[in-house]
Amino acid sequence: MRYSALKILREGLTGNKGWTPAWRDPEPKPEYDIVIIGGGGHGLATAYYLAKEFGLRNIAVLEKGWIGSGNVGRNTTIIRSNYLLPGNEPFYEMSLKLWEGLEQDFNYNAMVSQRSILNLIHSDAQRDAFVRRANAMFLAGADAELADADQLRAELPFLDFDNARFPIKGGLYQRRGGTVRHDAVAWGYARGADARGVDIIQNCEVTGFDIENGKCRGVETTRGAIRARKVGVCVAGSSGRVMALAGMRLPIESHVLQAFVTEGLKPVLPGVITFGAGHFYVSQSDKGGLVFGGDIDGYNSYAQRGNLPVVEDVAEGGMAIMPMIGRARLLRSWGGIMDMSMDGSPFIDRTHIDGLYFNGGWCYGGFKATPASGLCYAHLLAKDAPHPVATEMRLDRFARGHLIDEKGMGNQPNLH
Ligand SMILES: Cc1cc2nc3c(=O)[nH]c(=O)nc-3n(C[C@H](O)[C@H](O)[C@H](O)COP(=O)(O)OP(=O)(O)OC[C@H]3O[C@@H](n4cnc5c(N)ncnc54)[C@H](O)[C@@H]3O)c2cc1C
Repeated sequence: MRYSALKILREGLTGNKGWTPAWRDPEPKPEYDIVIIGGGGHGLATAYYLAKEFGLRNIAVLEKGWIGSGNVGRNTTIIRSNYLLPGNEPFYEMSLKLWEGLEQDFNYNAMVSQRSILNLIHSDAQRDAFVRRANAMFLAGADAELADADQLRAELPFLDFDNARFPIKGGLYQRRGGTVRHDAVAWGYARGADARGVDIIQNCEVTGFDIENGKCRGVETTRGAIRARKVGVCVAGSSGRVMALAGMRLPIESHVLQAFVTEGLKPVLPGVITFGAGHFYVSQSDKGGLVFGGDIDGYNSYAQRGNLPVVEDVAEGGMAIMPMIGRARLLRSWGGIMDMSMDGSPFIDRTHIDGLYFNGGWCYGGFKATPASGLCYAHLLAKDAPHPVATEMRLDRFARGHLIDEKGMGNQPNLH
């Protein structure tokens, strides 16, 4: 069924009786060409592009819960491509371009809103670093704009420009950055993949791999064994656990990341704003809530809930740049499990086991990557060769010393 304004009008006038489920609920078949493990944004996008771009349709996406129950439905919805390094920036810019055409492409309203992202500058040295970043962004065809404090005072008068510790000296804008309704992305990709013949199987947990003589021949699941020519793992925060079932240890740790939303307020924030001297980022949802977050909880965990020290740290970050946030009442907070890689960058790669592929290490920046991750993983699975913008996202980059170290801080699990 194609969605359109005319369809909504017709259904509205005829009692809304003509809508059909957006995807089927099929029983798993005993065998597929490709099995994707994980019905998050990345797994569903991979299946969608495998079908749409590479004409492969005998595919199953296996999800242990319901689609959208993982990080794709828990994130703070920010999209951007303001990266520095050549191993990352072209990939994220391709992703932003895909977001720009996504709703027309999969015929679903994902509320892509390019309302801008602003990274605040608090020192002269930070301005130099952001100028360098802006130039790297230009080289990859992205947009970037430097704002001085006077411009920001006029645009965002509620910010605390003269904060004694963290004065605001300007900012780096990416006007094409913004937000997207996160769970609608999962639903849109699921609908598009299903319409092209992909089986989306929910409540189906992968519990083991069928590996024989170094070749992966399928998976064990809570709904029986399923054979496959190729298996693509795409389970974000569960990466360590699932790859351990295949005997692999990854350069990834799992940590909780929390997010928060306030009561609905009148429109106040035009776009996304990030603190440059600590970890705090905020935007305003279309319902009016201020949606914000900060750092990971800092200890390994597979629990989808966080602890109070980070709540305090995030609140301090918010108060440092926009004290008016202290007057807003908090409505909800929640947590998701982050697959934190040791250099803060992701992996889209084959493994040493024939037929077994891995996509993960997205840290807390993987939502914006969803379209490019899906397309690049589909490319790898279909052609057995990396997509040109994802050639550096290799599992062996630590052994080779070719880290994609955006923050220039070496290996540590709190980067992104
Ligand atoms: C609070 C928070 C805020 C964030 N904010 C942003 C942001 O603003 N911008 C941004 O770019 N990124 C953000 N992120 C990160 C982003 O959400 C993730 O990097 C991204 O969603 C991960 O990819 P995914 O959607 O495929 O993951 P998920 O949705 O987690 O999908 C993985 C799926 O695998 C399933 N699974 C696990 N194990 C198995 C198994 N054994 N068998 C079958 N299925 C299994 C899980 O149930 C899950 O549904 C944030 C994350 C959180 C938690």
